[in-house]
Amino acid sequence: MSRQYLKKAAEAPASSAQDVRNTVLSILDEIETGREEAALRYAAKFDRYDGPPVVTKDAIAEAGSKVSQRLKDDIRFAHDNVRRFAERQLATLGDVEYEVVPGFVAGQKSIPVRAAGAYVPGGRYSHVASAIMTVTTAKVAGCEHITVCSPPRPDIGVNPAILYTADLCGADTILALGGVQGVAAMAFGLFETPPSDILVGPGNQFVAEAKRALFGRVGIDMFAGPTDSLILADASADHDVVAADLVGQAEHGYNSPVWLVTDDRKLAETVLDRVPKVIAELPEPNRDSAATAWRDLGEVILCADREEMAQTSDDYAPEHLTVQAEDLDWWLGRLKCYGSLFLGEETTVAYGDKASGTNHVLPTSGAARYTGGLSVHKYMKIVTWQRATREGSRPVAEATARISRLEGMEGHARTADIRLRKYFPTTNFD
Ligand code: NAD
Repeated sequence: MSRQYLKKAAEAPASSAQDVRNTVLSILDEIETGREEAALRYAAKFDRYDGPPVVTKDAIAEAGSKVSQRLKDDIRFAHDNVRRFAERQLATLGDVEYEVVPGFVAGQKSIPVRAAGAYVPGGRYSHVASAIMTVTTAKVAGCEHITVCSPPRPDIGVNPAILYTADLCGADTILALGGVQGVAAMAFGLFETPPSDILVGPGNQFVAEAKRALFGRVGIDMFAGPTDSLILADASADHDVVAADLVGQAEHGYNSPVWLVTDDRKLAETVLDRVPKVIAELPEPNRDSAATAWRDLGEVILCADREEMAQTSDDYAPEHLTVQAEDLDWWLGRLKCYGSLFLGEETTVAYGDKASGTNHVLPTSGAARYTGGLSVHKYMKIVTWQRATREGSRPVAEATARISRLEGMEGHARTADIRLRKYFPTTNFD
């Protein structure tokens, strides 16, 4: 490896993860015991909200009247793309029925979880797109009940555009609750919503930690840390577009890394020069987030050739991966670790984040080594079944009895014996 860092991230600060975990565990504990009353207390404490926790149909209709027709059309366009893509994903989950030995059939089918809980972040930005990504996929998967939680603003409640979107995409219950109290309400089934079988959606460190703490009692989509993005660019890339794309993703937050990997020194140096200028043109507070993210976490890595670029990218396993280079088919075939891949300058991460149809809830912090992002599949249980004729069951029963005895599991062996004696009374199986 001849990787050369023209800019490298600063040392990671001491982690406060244990503090967050302790806070989250104690809030979850309190809400599990104190139920609705405790959840409302935390809504008042963290979000200074004392309005109704369950958003009524009237409030949703009123919210819709506050959203411009142009924005409604855009939300419908994005919803339609995400829904149709999710429907294609669902179609890939065909049932399996296979005759393992003559007369013995094994099968597989997919069953959606009954109740899904979707967290829609609402702290700093109004994450309308997160409502589209989580609620639409749950609806297409066939979940019977979808609860949405989103943090309320003091005296205002949940952002009207989020309410409009969640309702459009198929939410059955919307709770004006954020953070741990929102996650807990969905998991424990507070405010008369069914307890969620799976919790999905992005959120800050408190939300992510609450989901992780509840995993096992409920399913979760993944543990999501701060968003990250990597751009692979060769000499054919437009340095202004590369710089804009790096800054666009650094805007997420001061802890959101962005990385450029290239085999072209001139491109690397031009982008290094451009990025601070592009950041300076952003409005506050986005400028400050992007500047901090770039200063502390931004990296520019010079590689010898495209193979080394691809290897570097796979080592980082980024959440978002963009390729602005020649021969896109080679990259599509070669790259192995990413949450979502954006091939060519004609697409960009923001398209996938908002409107192009693929999901934006994606693995962060290297989790793309072992998982993809949110999809219809995450709501589905892949279950198996079997049935057999008496004749078909015979070789399986005989093998089962012998393997069970080898393992010392006499009770198991006898469940096979009883059937063999019943179905084949004239045969001696000793
Ligand atoms: P949020 O909705 O995630 O969190 C707000 C809640 O945090 C509040 O309701 C409050 O209850 C809780 N909270 C705040 N301070 C607390 C404390 N000290 N103790 C306990 N609870 C506390 O909104 P946010 O904070 O703006 O974060 C949004 C997050 O979502 C960001 O991290 C962003 O990167 C992430 N996001 C990720 C994606 C993705 O797909 N990866 C998409 C959109 C958003």
